[in-house]
Amino acid sequence: MSINQTYEIQALSDKVGHFIRIRSLNKAKHFAVYRTFTKRFPDGTEVNAEIKEDIKDILVKSIQKKGITEGFILKFDENDKYSDFVDEKISPEKIRHISGKNEKSFTSTGAKLSSHWPIFYKLNETGFGSIIRATLTLHQVCSSRCQFCSTINRNKKDSTSFEETKEFIEKLYFDQAEYNKKHFSKYNEKYKELTGSDIRLRGLILSGGGQPNLWPHFEKLVEWLSNLDIDIGLITNGFPKNIDDKIYDKFKWIRLSITPEDASPHYVDKKFNLQRIPQNIIHNKNTFFGLSYVYGPWTNEDILKRLSSSIDEWKLDYIRMLTDCNLTRSEQLKSHNVLAEKLYNLSLIDKDGNNKGKIFHQLKFHGTQEEAEELWNDGKCFLQTYNLFWDTTGHETNGKSFCYPCDSVTVLAEENTKQQSKRGFDGNVWGTVTNDKVELLFKEKWKKFFDPRKHCSACLFMKNNKTVKNLANTSLDKLNQIKIDKDLEHINFP
Ligand code: SF4
Repeated sequence: MSINQTYEIQALSDKVGHFIRIRSLNKAKHFAVYRTFTKRFPDGTEVNAEIKEDIKDILVKSIQKKGITEGFILKFDENDKYSDFVDEKISPEKIRHISGKNEKSFTSTGAKLSSHWPIFYKLNETGFGSIIRATLTLHQVCSSRCQFCSTINRNKKDSTSFEETKEFIEKLYFDQAEYNKKHFSKYNEKYKELTGSDIRLRGLILSGGGQPNLWPHFEKLVEWLSNLDIDIGLITNGFPKNIDDKIYDKFKWIRLSITPEDASPHYVDKKFNLQRIPQNIIHNKNTFFGLSYVYGPWTNEDILKRLSSSIDEWKLDYIRMLTDCNLTRSEQLKSHNVLAEKLYNLSLIDKDGNNKGKIFHQLKFHGTQEEAEELWNDGKCFLQTYNLFWDTTGHETNGKSFCYPCDSVTVLAEENTKQQSKRGFDGNVWGTVTNDKVELLFKEKWKKFFDPRKHCSACLFMKNNKTVKNLANTSLDKLNQIKIDKDLEHINFP
């Protein structure tokens, strides 16, 4: 199930202009077209510019040297001449940012984990995990061609059936609740006291290879799920016309990913705000509706302004802005810094980095080897104890596919091109159990499938890992004193 990580890089032009085409040489040969790149100046400022004839060869060399993400950042001197100077690193503390209610509610920062503390009390005393949150890709279909795609190496035919998916969820929902009632009643009772539920799957995200709503059994699955007491979330790039829009009423939340505007077939006139949004999503008061936007060379002021106006037009609950996770930590922090300054200059955040309205900046960045050594002294990922991501990579060939503790294993870019992001799931490295054996994640003790100190030093969920570690090492007395933050939303997606 390993992925081939080679790409074809071509400098081309058409009637629109000059561009670089990057094509994965993996089985499905997905490609992305890049018409813009980033110019960085010695004072740290950046300008996103169009690719012109005179820069194409420099870009190709840069991509060959620094990879298909950082290769698109070129350095220029004060006179706007290409110049490969060495720039300084930025520490996260230097970035204008405060983590507020929106970031804590609508993303996974670790802040919601304490609302589920009895499962970590159980972990501490018994060594058994409790899978309360899951994300399913269902298939690998997506009609967009994003430059920052984290699964460009995917295979379109790796899809699951309705029955397999139902069985998977039933194990996490019914079997897990029964198992906890029978074997871990002390912890199950505590959890029930706190949350009103047995220890079982609480939150489920359908994320697809970009568009889970193109999976043939999407409506049938969501109908079936709506009879269970599970909060369901949807992450998608668009809303295809061939399914009944009513199905979207069943979701607790929907997050629409706004792709670079030349990468989506859904955008009329290449404007994201002209795409079709089902009216019931806009007007449904019971479903949170938000956008996600990745800042990069494709971003210009006009898009940022239109994003801002879409808040009223689409009655949005939030817009989450972040940077490309395929960047290494130091480049990602520089990009975050540029994004924070842009948001500040547009008066979207205040001088300390608090969001002023519904747009918030998610400061998500890679960890370091030093943090990894300190955090995972037992060599086991803590997310594995409560979360899973079932990705279908390899399903066509093997008739089954792996679960992973998180989705960031596709973008673990390490410094100095030690390891570029894989842009695909590799079950041989980060896989835990296959979908047909998912029950082992709660019926067997938490065990080591791989050593995160070796494979995950660029982890994007270090904070979450640390929070679990702390909760699992806290006495019952102290756990009982935890005050649940009632202001936070999406509690079942910690
Ligand atoms: S990247 Fe982090 S959260 Fe994901 S599997 Fe590795 S250690 Fe776990």
